[in-house]
Amino acid sequence: MRDHASSPEHPGHHEHDEHDGGGSLRPVDEVRAYILDRISPLTPIQLHLQEAFGCVLAEDVAADSDIPPFASSAMDGFAVRAADIAHATQESPAMLKIVGRAPVGQHPDATVGTAEAVWIATGAPVPAGADAIAPIEHCVVQGEGVSVLRPFAEGYSVRPAGEDASEGSLLVPAGRRISAAELGLLASAGLASVRVYPRPRVVILSTGDELVEPGRAAPYGVIRDANSYTLYGALREAGASAYVGGIVRDDPDSLKEAVFGLITRADGFISSGGVSVGERDVVKRAFFRRGEVEFYRVAMQPGMPQAFGSIEGIPYFGLPGNPVSTFVSFEVFIRPALLKMMGRRDIFRPEIWAVLDQDVTGPREKLQFARVRVRREHGQWRAAGTGSSASNLLSTVGRANGLAIIPSGVETAEAGSRVRVMLFRALEDE
Ligand code: AMP
Ligand code: MG
Repeated sequence: MRDHASSPEHPGHHEHDEHDGGGSLRPVDEVRAYILDRISPLTPIQLHLQEAFGCVLAEDVAADSDIPPFASSAMDGFAVRAADIAHATQESPAMLKIVGRAPVGQHPDATVGTAEAVWIATGAPVPAGADAIAPIEHCVVQGEGVSVLRPFAEGYSVRPAGEDASEGSLLVPAGRRISAAELGLLASAGLASVRVYPRPRVVILSTGDELVEPGRAAPYGVIRDANSYTLYGALREAGASAYVGGIVRDDPDSLKEAVFGLITRADGFISSGGVSVGERDVVKRAFFRRGEVEFYRVAMQPGMPQAFGSIEGIPYFGLPGNPVSTFVSFEVFIRPALLKMMGRRDIFRPEIWAVLDQDVTGPREKLQFARVRVRREHGQWRAAGTGSSASNLLSTVGRANGLAIIPSGVETAEAGSRVRVMLFRALEDE
């Protein structure tokens, strides 16, 4: 039962669940800080706007001119002088002479003098001399004249130049992740490309003699490779670019060959399986003696055995093979590291306090990440367990949207008590 969770029915067994060669347990926070210390943001690159979507801006972008660039009309109507229509009424309209037109995308063909008006379209530049727009529904056109039926104050329906952003002002700050509004702003500022932190290219390798790709025959005793796909999804969701490197047999030379064959094209490696401290574990056999990858036990459930290091300067994460351990390890260690590589400042998942529906029991000496589904009920967050805490049952993650953080020192977090929950899914997702 390697890397197997304790179950509430057998709370005494968990010390031996993820068997390994011993050694002391390292706290989750310490390991995470250690990893983050060894991860640096990637060197920024220039990317076209569409490719920059989802990336973090590497430099402040200021407006190089006013946005919008000229004063324009917010309505179809007539550009007028507010003073000329100040006393207009239904009974005694202001009579103005139509002297020209202001269509979109062009210079108006006239300026507005006393008792004059220029027909104007929504979005068209306001002609010189005008200081208000009389909307078309308050105007009556008769031949070359227009009657305005009520007053409109100075500035009415005029969108001033620079109202969105004035020349030289900060438009999008460095460190901001480029989403829809930022892309639009950058385009408004006339930028076709921007400097951003690139998406890390991460190679995924699954180790195990028992594994087979989905879509292939799976004879008795064979396990389908779930982890490559869990990790692929997790990487894509984090904004990284993922490469499924495939299944590697439990043979250190094959693993080394797979890693070194891809090393020039990778900003990171993630392997799953083969990291328990047992001598037969492939990741250890491939990399331990080279001194590049460290193997240790983290005081967490699931996910106790972990490996982390750097191979020719490329970060290498070795995760335990049980599918839930892989998922949780990614969330706890790899996702924040990747977000740091991507220049993000907010690298941790949001956390909320939620009230437990049931008791959650775990190993006292470890921090437990318990799979829960949170929901809003009577103005508070409630968290329900999604099944067994065994680390091979991926369906319990499929039903969950959060990981309740049960600190070490607590064996049972009781029903009705409040726990921190790290949310890994948008709450609107079914
Ligand atoms: P390991 O960490 O290699 O000892 O694997 C622990 C458990 O996880 C074993 O039951 C493996 O069969 C299972 N496992 C390892 N890799 C995968 C994978 N890629 N997909 C699904 N299960 C896996
Ligand atoms: Mg294995």
